[in-house]
Amino acid sequence: MTTIAANLQAVKSRIVAACVAARRDPGQVSLLAVSKTWPAEAVRQAAQCGQRAFGENYVQEALAKVAALADLGLEWHFIGPLQSNKSRSVAEVFAWVHSIDRLKLAERLSAQRPVGMPPLQVCVQVNVSNETSKSGCTTDEALALCRAVAVLPNLRLRGLMAIPEPAQESAVVVRRFSQLCALRDRLNDEGLGLDTLSMGMSGDLEEAIAAGATIVRVGTAIFGERAKT
Ligand SMILES: *Cc1c(COP(=O)(O)O)cnc(C)c1O
Repeated sequence: MTTIAANLQAVKSRIVAACVAARRDPGQVSLLAVSKTWPAEAVRQAAQCGQRAFGENYVQEALAKVAALADLGLEWHFIGPLQSNKSRSVAEVFAWVHSIDRLKLAERLSAQRPVGMPPLQVCVQVNVSNETSKSGCTTDEALALCRAVAVLPNLRLRGLMAIPEPAQESAVVVRRFSQLCALRDRLNDEGLGLDTLSMGMSGDLEEAIAAGATIVRVGTAIFGERAKT
């Protein structure tokens, strides 16, 4: 078995164990393999193990991989900060964007989604730690942004995404994830119908699943440590 195959199995076991501990159905949590910085060959190996959904952060790098792996019919998720001037190629090749943090970006993606493609599935990114350095809208802005995104014709608003600041204490991490879950529930009380919480990474997927994550975004635990850039 390759390292990637073994790592994928280990991550899936962690997901199942976390679901059991949280009394959740493992079928409610999907794994997004974050392949940023890794070559197409690594993605191909993971795909051979049955992994279908891959997350990328950098547009140019992602486009090269999407082209190299077009034969596999993979599902690509854009999860990084997105400059408006790079939105067109994202609208043209990705299935999901997790990092919607402003209306202008959502409007461009909707306008640029090619005719004949299914709607682009999107999450609004929320800054639950309220750090100025992190991207994402504030909790207070989330309702208005979600309402505006929900009516764009070529997007389908699925839920919320967050990247809490790394914390040593598991209780702090759980609280951040629970805040995102509570926000989703409040937005659903307003009629938004959000079914997705994109939260949890290699180091904290258990906490995220305990707090209600439906997509965990895992890179390092599958592909290994990324080279420092
Ligand atoms: C890199 C990245 C991940 C994966 O993080 P790991 O710690 O390597 O699992 C998840 N989400 C986002 C938005 C990322 O940029």
